[in-house]
Amino acid sequence: MTVDRIARLRADLQSLDLDTLVVTHPPNIRYLTGLSASAGAAVVSLGGCTLIVDSRYLDAARSVTRGRPDVSVRLASRGIDATVAEDVLASGATRVGVEGAHLPVARYNRLSAAIAAGARGTVAGALAPTERLVERRRAVKDAEELLTIREAGRRLSDVARRARQFLQPGRTEQAAAAMVDAALREGGFERPAFDTIVASGPNSARPHARPTSRVLGDGEGVVLDFGGVYDGYCVDLTRTLHMGVPSAEFRRVFDAVREAHSAAIAAVQPGALATDIDGAARRVLERHGLLEAFGHGTGHGLGLEVHEDPRISPLAPADERVTAGMVFTIEPGAYVPGIGGVRIEDDVLVVDGGCELLTNVPIDL
Ligand code: ZN
Ligand code: ZN
Repeated sequence: MTVDRIARLRADLQSLDLDTLVVTHPPNIRYLTGLSASAGAAVVSLGGCTLIVDSRYLDAARSVTRGRPDVSVRLASRGIDATVAEDVLASGATRVGVEGAHLPVARYNRLSAAIAAGARGTVAGALAPTERLVERRRAVKDAEELLTIREAGRRLSDVARRARQFLQPGRTEQAAAAMVDAALREGGFERPAFDTIVASGPNSARPHARPTSRVLGDGEGVVLDFGGVYDGYCVDLTRTLHMGVPSAEFRRVFDAVREAHSAAIAAVQPGALATDIDGAARRVLERHGLLEAFGHGTGHGLGLEVHEDPRISPLAPADERVTAGMVFTIEPGAYVPGIGGVRIEDDVLVVDGGCELLTNVPIDL
């Protein structure tokens, strides 16, 4: 499986005229080598891939790369960066890229200096910052990843169908969030994908409210947004529920957001512009006079990270198109002080002709 991932990355390196990439972002290391670790590096050259770890991860690194002749494991006995420099120098690389978004300047400087000191002029210029090389590959899921994500979506839906159990009048937002987190673990998730959001009454009008000690009351709306990590992969879902009889105004906002959610899902197909999918949701809310109430993007990619490519947002690059195999959320919302907030979020996989819903839970107040 991951043999292909490294081969595809090599093609990207060649097109940039690089012969090596030093991968330091842990989710990217996991994607390429299978190792889940908080530190380390993968040095991908045209001829091989060296996974460099400290002693904490040596056994795990050997275990995940067993049967992988394309990855060799090396213990960083003098520190990760010194070993990266040795590996780069030993490979004879002359054009070395680093991950610009993930390498702090101080580390970049140390690594550059270590390589320059040993290279005696053979490395051409400074290390070349690259942008989202592995991330762009990660945005299109392979068959093995889809098996995991589909299963994660089913499990998250099972938890979400119990949402009303978690939200009882008299319970605090924090207590409800703790129940959701426990249900995620019981449901087979290794951990929540982010801090669970339970936002009730006036708090629901804040898109990224954190659970507080506020007690859930009868007759108010609650936004419940939670996600889980299953075998390394993130899924994410939001439902807005009402504990009582919703006012006509609240119902109107809810119906508009539900319509925006459907419109965005209907706009998903291979080749669609990310900005058009976002626009489909935004136009519905505009028609209902709620454009100003929708301050965030319509969706974000899901995978080894809970926010990754593609971004389904008005800020996405104008020429960014979604392709089959991409997995992302559709999560329009409207936040109206005095009435409350509504967000509805599901996860979709782009397939030929449209999209497959990875989460499947009734959408009712
Ligand atoms: Zn969410
Ligand atoms: Zn989300």
